[in-house]
Amino acid sequence: MNLILLGPPASGKGTQAEFLSQKLNIPTLSMGQLLREEVKRKTTIGQQVAEIMSSGELVPNSLSNELLWRRIQQADCQQGFILDGFPRTRIQAKFLDDKLKDWQKKIDHVVLVVITDEEVVRRLAGRRTCSQCGDIYHLEFNPPKQPGKCDECGGKLIIRPDDTEQAIRQRLKIYHEETEKVVEYYQQQGKLLKVDGNQSIESVRDNIFRLILNPASAG
Ligand code: AMP
Repeated sequence: MNLILLGPPASGKGTQAEFLSQKLNIPTLSMGQLLREEVKRKTTIGQQVAEIMSSGELVPNSLSNELLWRRIQQADCQQGFILDGFPRTRIQAKFLDDKLKDWQKKIDHVVLVVITDEEVVRRLAGRRTCSQCGDIYHLEFNPPKQPGKCDECGGKLIIRPDDTEQAIRQRLKIYHEETEKVVEYYQQQGKLLKVDGNQSIESVRDNIFRLILNPASAG
């Protein structure tokens, strides 16, 4: 199964992608994570995108398309994949469709996790990210077992540079201007499944499983 998770920043896409990945036994491809790895390794792409990412802007389509396609061609994606953070523009959505068509593959479902702008701001204020493996925690809703330390790898938990108030406002603006067009794009294809992201992590997870295993229950 090839899936896409859409939603504003902090809608819980990353957390839900991990649940799906374990349940369906297919990898999650997080574009934000792929980009952050490039920045950490100081690659040519990493050096080009570091500043853009900190400001909350999108990196150029050509770069994200290239990174995504490089990753998707790896062997572990042959049985399926979950995309988190891609596509974020209509150009990226079209690129993905065209490339998959060449491969006689397609996107099966697109899950949109819906939350309000106020909720985005509230959640990002408490968000902490592992500097080593990228796992995400929340001081209130999903705290680590030991303060400041990742449960998975023991890495230091940090506040991401694009989780500042100004960058958050910019990311929300871009979401409404660009990524909502991607929502429409998949709605027109009849692939969009909407989930209320304001509920508990477990309720959102259960609703997503129910919808992708039985899309007719979307109502
Ligand atoms: P995320 O971890 O998904 O919130 O992404 C963090 C940042 O990476 C975004 O604010 C953008 O700067 C960049 N980014 C992630 N995905 C994309 C994409 N599909 N296209 C362009 N930029 C992206």
